[in-house]
Amino acid sequence: MIDYRSDTVTRPTAGMLKAMMASPVGDDVFQDDPTVNALEAKTAEMFGMEAALFAPSGTMTNQIAIKVHTNPGDEVVCDKLSHIYNYEGGGIASNSGCSVRLLDGDKGRFTHQMVIDSILPDDSHFPVTRLVSVENTSNKGGGVIWDDAEIERISRTCKEHGLGFHMDGARLFNALVETNQSTEHVGSMFDSISICLSKGLGCPVGSLLLGSKDFIRQAHRVRKVFGGGMRQAGILAGAGIYALDHHIDRLKEDHANAKRLASALSETDWVRHVVPVETNIIVVELSAGEDQHARLAALKNAGILAMGFGAGKLRFVTHLDVNEAMIDQTISAIKGMK
Ligand SMILES: *Cc1c(COP(=O)(O)O)cnc(C)c1O
Repeated sequence: MIDYRSDTVTRPTAGMLKAMMASPVGDDVFQDDPTVNALEAKTAEMFGMEAALFAPSGTMTNQIAIKVHTNPGDEVVCDKLSHIYNYEGGGIASNSGCSVRLLDGDKGRFTHQMVIDSILPDDSHFPVTRLVSVENTSNKGGGVIWDDAEIERISRTCKEHGLGFHMDGARLFNALVETNQSTEHVGSMFDSISICLSKGLGCPVGSLLLGSKDFIRQAHRVRKVFGGGMRQAGILAGAGIYALDHHIDRLKEDHANAKRLASALSETDWVRHVVPVETNIIVVELSAGEDQHARLAALKNAGILAMGFGAGKLRFVTHLDVNEAMIDQTISAIKGMK
């Protein structure tokens, strides 16, 4: 099976496993784990931010950030396609007691004017607009990259209106290897950033939340409340340090592989449209009359795993465990499919 369901399906490489086994550990709830501390310091420094917090998942780092930025009754502004709204189990409501203002952006990306228009007046009828969140790359948008100038304008808007600004950067490095922007530049625009190690970077577990010292001090408490305080987590943080040192530049290979596969998919009868590929996510819209489940089953029969991605859509994601030869194999299997 060639598994394109998600870039979370990767298994640690031999080099990563060796790094994990060699990692010194301690009790991270006591902040005694030297490898977790090193990973947190490394990522904070990378982005020019004061501090970082290691957590088991990107859902948790996003949800901790939302909890720290808001009070119950506040409102969070994000795109209608965003992961924090669609795929985190309603956590904004259940963890933070906040309402959500959904923006109707372009493939998950909105403008600073849309943010300005979403800010509610100071009137007791309304929730308090408190936090703006962007997702780069946008998963449901098809792995598309945000325009940096627009993020800068939104950052300025947030500062002017006293709103928190959060980035769900589950696939931020996929964006950065394409745009060549520096991590420090990104860090300078946000109050908090969540990055995932378990997507394209190929770690078994782990995400980081970045922010100011005071923000991360509060986040540490929320992580405990959410049940995310881990003990000898250095064995996982060691994978993270290894991935940051070895697996960032190679994301470009995933992007080249995705473009090649997308082009083959666009030539089949059963695909009506392929969303132009910018990074490692391919979203295909099936032709009229195509049954999504039947198509997924046919692909599986041909040794290819993909995922349903809303009505009439499939998602393919390239990653560390898909090499060029597997792309070739997939392309010839697809060509032979009716
Ligand atoms: C995967 C993902 C997350 C976090 O997911 P976890 O599985 O909880 O680590 C957050 N945002 C986006 C856009 C994602 O794709």
